[in-house]
Amino acid sequence: MSQIISAKKHNFSAGPAILPKEVFEQASQAALDYNGVGLSLLEMSHRSKEFTAIVDEAVQLIREIGGIDDSYEVLFLTGGASSQFYMAPMNLLGQSETAAYVDTGTWSTKAIKEVKHFGNVEVVASSKDKNFTYIPKGWKVPSDAVYVHTTSNNTISGTEYQSTPETGGIPLICDMSSNMFSRPIDIEKYGMIYAGAQKNIGPAGVTLVIVKKDWIGRTDRAIPTMLNYKTHADKGSMFNTPPAFPIYVLMLTMRWLKAQGGLKGIEQHNIAKANLLYNEIDSNPLFHGTVAKEDRSRMNVCFLPSDAELTQPFIDACTDAGINGIKGHRSVGGFRASIYNAMTKSSVQALVDVMQDFSKKFG
Ligand SMILES: *Cc1c(COP(=O)(O)O)cnc(C)c1O
Repeated sequence: MSQIISAKKHNFSAGPAILPKEVFEQASQAALDYNGVGLSLLEMSHRSKEFTAIVDEAVQLIREIGGIDDSYEVLFLTGGASSQFYMAPMNLLGQSETAAYVDTGTWSTKAIKEVKHFGNVEVVASSKDKNFTYIPKGWKVPSDAVYVHTTSNNTISGTEYQSTPETGGIPLICDMSSNMFSRPIDIEKYGMIYAGAQKNIGPAGVTLVIVKKDWIGRTDRAIPTMLNYKTHADKGSMFNTPPAFPIYVLMLTMRWLKAQGGLKGIEQHNIAKANLLYNEIDSNPLFHGTVAKEDRSRMNVCFLPSDAELTQPFIDACTDAGINGIKGHRSVGGFRASIYNAMTKSSVQALVDVMQDFSKKFG
């Protein structure tokens, strides 16, 4: 097994994304024989005491790492972050009420489209005018808004809020899919946080939802059983068969995160990696960044070549160096290096080395 791991590429893919090496190893073992019980975790009942203990530990670690007290539910759902675009307003917004949304890219645009089925939406700010290359600031929230929806990190365009936005006390609902648990969170400002696991906290297949308990059931709308947060809250995310293996891998990732010093520890690691890469982008004449410097994401680093002709040669040079997933999203072009929590500084250094060699060859 260690042979396979040591041959691994540097994976800069935006998602599904890198996970810690230890997590891959432990998950592989559990797929063969979970803790010596003689069964693969893949074939074990979700009602078994072993699996119940996994869910309990996952919830407990999330609470501990995030400082999330008992006034919030911690749920493991399916359907991806994309399903929360409609589940959040379906559960939390009355038909005649208003929610404020900030439009910072592809994902928030999709969230705005869905809320229209369930209530009034006011888009209080947008960075669409500059192809989402910055985070709008100084926006005002209508005082009657039930919540303000933001996307804390914009995976495709590479922008990130550097602090929690000011909302005049109105609770935030935040799509944290691509920077969840990469930095400390002011939890008390949030009514709800959601994240598809596959960017930063686990594999594809499970979606983390953290929601204020007293918000659940706040509308009188009829909600189908499976789409009602109350259903999953009442049954501890076990109303139906949960995505058992992804929850296990998420739990392992949380153990790893705790061992990194939690959110403060991982933030230092993430700042160091982002600085290393952005410094190279800013000093290397063959590359430049695509977003406003003060809004640069620590997770998804977007950059362009000085000459579009250099795009393919640079991707080829990366491939030769064992670097995977560096091609930019089609809406931005160029390159995107996703450097989530589990990315090591030495992998970022490997990319920087390729950039430096490249500028010697083509500069
Ligand atoms: C990837 C992503 C999504 C979509 O997540 P799914 O789990 O694929 O539905 C939503 N929001 C953000 C910010 C993302 O990065």
